[in-house]
Amino acid sequence: MSQTFDVIVIGAGPGGYIAAIRAAQLGFKVACIDEWKNAAGGPAPGGTCTNVGCIPSKALLQSSEHFEHAQHHFAEHGISTGTVKMDVAKMIARKDAVVKQNNDGILYLFKKNKVSFFHGRGSFARAFEGGYEIAVAGDKPETLVGKQVIVATGSNPRALPGVAFDEVHVLSNDGALRMGAVPKKLAVIGSGVIGLEMGSVWRRLGAEVTILEGLPTFLGAVDEQIAKEAKKAFDKQGLKIELGVKVGEVKTGKKGVSIAYTDAKGEGKLLEADKLIVSIGRVPNTNGLNAEAVGLKLDERGAIVVDDECRTNLPGVWAVGDVVRGPMLAHKAEEEGVAVAERIAGQHGHVNFNTIPWVIYTSPEIAWVGRTEQQLKADGVAYKAGTFPFLANGRARALGDTTGMVKFLADAKTDEILGVHIVGPMASELIAEAVVAMEFKASAEDIARICHAHPSLSEATKEAALAVDKRTLNF
Ligand SMILES: Cc1cc2nc3c(=O)[nH]c(=O)nc-3n(C[C@H](O)[C@H](O)[C@H](O)COP(=O)(O)OP(=O)(O)OC[C@H]3O[C@@H](n4cnc5c(N)ncnc54)[C@H](O)[C@@H]3O)c2cc1C
Repeated sequence: MSQTFDVIVIGAGPGGYIAAIRAAQLGFKVACIDEWKNAAGGPAPGGTCTNVGCIPSKALLQSSEHFEHAQHHFAEHGISTGTVKMDVAKMIARKDAVVKQNNDGILYLFKKNKVSFFHGRGSFARAFEGGYEIAVAGDKPETLVGKQVIVATGSNPRALPGVAFDEVHVLSNDGALRMGAVPKKLAVIGSGVIGLEMGSVWRRLGAEVTILEGLPTFLGAVDEQIAKEAKKAFDKQGLKIELGVKVGEVKTGKKGVSIAYTDAKGEGKLLEADKLIVSIGRVPNTNGLNAEAVGLKLDERGAIVVDDECRTNLPGVWAVGDVVRGPMLAHKAEEEGVAVAERIAGQHGHVNFNTIPWVIYTSPEIAWVGRTEQQLKADGVAYKAGTFPFLANGRARALGDTTGMVKFLADAKTDEILGVHIVGPMASELIAEAVVAMEFKASAEDIARICHAHPSLSEATKEAALAVDKRTLNF
């Protein structure tokens, strides 16, 4: 006999598992289905984020940053280490252990919140008056019945046309996170978040990294001044980034990969590398969901069509996260998951797309919220800008990391903060203050008048807010 639930969530990535927990907190009987398998074939909830995305990439960024510090920066602190070596297998094993801690944590949270977890692929079997039948194909095939269904099936890496990922020479994020040795030469196609983060990891470990980018501008979505500052730092580190290229034929052989491309001047070139990471974006994933069986509407990109509140075209079916429109970010997926669970409970779930923070965890880190200077210009908004360099921040000097700046953009008339952009140490943490400020519609002066701990990097945030009114105290 089929088991009946109030809410069935398909997918246990950050969108799905958080939706399941919130729905259970609100008193619903909840099932969550996820098909991800760990190396032993067991369940590995957490989705792309936990298994091959946010978490493992940050684990490797941390390990490689330690390595770089030990090699190049310990000496200035008076620490001598002799030759520093990297055991790649150990680094990968540590990353796998971090991933497992997160998988186990989610299974624990399901138990704690009484969410029934099913390991396998969930698909729509049929719709009936007042609900849906969901088939689970897994270790133990089951049929579940639910009044409400939340689809959170995430996304998959986009391959170059005609060049499939073999995860040996041509790597997606998955292969890029589990290379067994440092490649001598690494090519990356796409200088977005994933390309830059993965390129940084392997460059720090000794690979000669070349990133090919089709667009003529570096990090077009980032504030131009911030992107320029970041590019300067990456150039100095030896991360080669070629913009405005057109990738042609990609060939793989025993020795590696060759990539034919035309550079920005139109000159034909050949890049040879041991490995190639393709990071040209991700595509929404509805594989095996059997969306057709119930008439679930997809758009031309394959994303599930939803309204502003994540409602699909089917009554009682919702969709959140990477499988729908909007930024492909774990925290956006989570916010949508919470909001949908609350809407099902008749509450007013809310996601503010204007205050979703963005972070690139390179060194220096890049983080921002709100509009960039170029967007404000394009929108014809009168604004004031204020910047403060980390070079003039005492904590940054003590850390030995003075690259970058904090930049505020505020409305010229009302002083309301319209955007905050950071490149520099711990930008990922510093941006939270800006998000809170923007959620509360704070002015630049509000931040400038708040007491910030000394010495802290957050003083650069306060000073950048002061700079909007041209009254920095330390610069
Ligand atoms: C290398 C990399 C680094 C990243 N770093 C960051 C970062 O630092 N910060 C950030 O915010 N975002 C980051 N992201 C993006 C982030 O991982 C995604 O935005 C996020 O995982 C989306 O969450 P989701 O719940 O929508 O989907 P996913 O995390 O993709 O989860 C979907 C889940 O659904 C399961 N599933 C799919 N179909 C079915 C089915 N029919 N039945 C059962 N289960 C199914 C999948 O197995 C998967 O477990 C990164 C991504 C990559 C690739």
